[in-house]
Amino acid sequence: MRYLVTGGAGFIGGHLCERLIAQGHEVLALDDLSTGSFDNLQRLDGHERFEFRCASVLERRVVERCVRECQGVYHLASAVGVKLVVDQPVKTIETIVGGTEVVLNSCARYRRPVLLTSTSEVYGKSPKVPFAESDDCVMGPTTTRRWAYACAKALDEFHALAYWHQARLPVVIARLFNTVGPRQTGRYGMVIPRFVAQGLAGEPITVYGDGRQSRCFAHVKDVVGALCGLMDHPRARGEVFNIGNDQEVTILQLAERVRDLTGGRSEIRLIPYHEAYTVGFEDMMRRVPDLSKIRRLIGYRPTYDLDAILRDVIAEAQAAAPGSSTLSTS
Ligand code: UDP
Repeated sequence: MRYLVTGGAGFIGGHLCERLIAQGHEVLALDDLSTGSFDNLQRLDGHERFEFRCASVLERRVVERCVRECQGVYHLASAVGVKLVVDQPVKTIETIVGGTEVVLNSCARYRRPVLLTSTSEVYGKSPKVPFAESDDCVMGPTTTRRWAYACAKALDEFHALAYWHQARLPVVIARLFNTVGPRQTGRYGMVIPRFVAQGLAGEPITVYGDGRQSRCFAHVKDVVGALCGLMDHPRARGEVFNIGNDQEVTILQLAERVRDLTGGRSEIRLIPYHEAYTVGFEDMMRRVPDLSKIRRLIGYRPTYDLDAILRDVIAEAQAAAPGSSTLSTS
C-alpha cells in the first residue's frame, strides 16, 4: 500500500512514517515544516519507498494530487501545543478546520479511507473521569482561547463523521491523549521534553499551578501501533477511539520522577499559571482515557509505563546533546 501521511514531519508523523515503512508500505509525507522538522524524517531520507513533499494541507491542488496517488490517508497535520494555540489562535483554527476540509474533500473525491487524529482536548472540562468516547464534550467559554483548539478538532470529527454517514467515506477518528517519546520538542510547551531538558541541565523544573493537575502519558510507539491497527480494521470505520495510556500521574509527581532520573540536581519550582501563559489559558485538571473500546476491537494495550517512557526520552536527549547543559526548552 502507498499511504499519505499529512503532518509527516511532525513528532508523531515521523514515527508513523517509520512504522509504515518498516511494515513494507510506501509512504508519501506531506508537511509545510511550520512546526514539523525534517529531523523527524532523517532516518527515512533516501529510502526508496519514502517520499517527502513540502506543502501546507491548505493547498488544495497539492493535497488532491497526493490523495489520488495513495490508497489511504493518515491525517495528522494540525496546529500543536497549548502554547502555540493560545499565541496564534487564527492559524490554529484555520489549519485545523480548513486543512481537514481539504483532506476530507479530496478523500471523498477519490474514495480513499482516512484516519483523522483528534485529541483528548475534545472532552474539555468533562467532570467524568476516565473519558469514554460516548461521553459529552464540555467546552469552556469562547472567550478562553484554549478551547478554540478543542472546538476546531470537535468540528473536524463532526465533519469526518458526516462524510461517513452521508457518503459512506471510510473514516476513523483517533482521539490522542498526551503522546510523548523521543524527538518531541518542548518548544510548544509540552511538559515532558521541557522537564527532561531542565533536569539534565540542572535547572529548576517548572511546575505550573500547584502541580496537582494530572495527565496520562503514552509512548509514541504504542500510539502509532494503535493508529495502524485502526486503519487496518474494517470495523473501526465510522467510529471514534481513545488512544493513550491510563496510568495517571500528577504533574508534581512527574517533576519529582524526572528530577530523580536526571541526576537529582534540579529544584522543583511552582510557577503561577498567569506567569506561565499569556491570557486565554485554562488548565484541565484531570485527563484519563477509558481504553476499553480500542482494547476490545484491536487488543490495544500500552507497553511502556511512565518510567520506561522517561528513560527513553532521557536517553535520546542525552544522545542528541551529550553535554546536556546545552539543551534548551525555549
Ligand atoms: N506544564 C507544567 N510545566 C511546563 C509545561 C507544562 O507544569 O513547563 C503542565 C501544564 O500546565 C499541564 C501539563 O503540564 O497541566 C501538561 O501540559 P502539556 O502542555 O504537555 O499538555 P496538555 O495536556 O496541557 O495539552
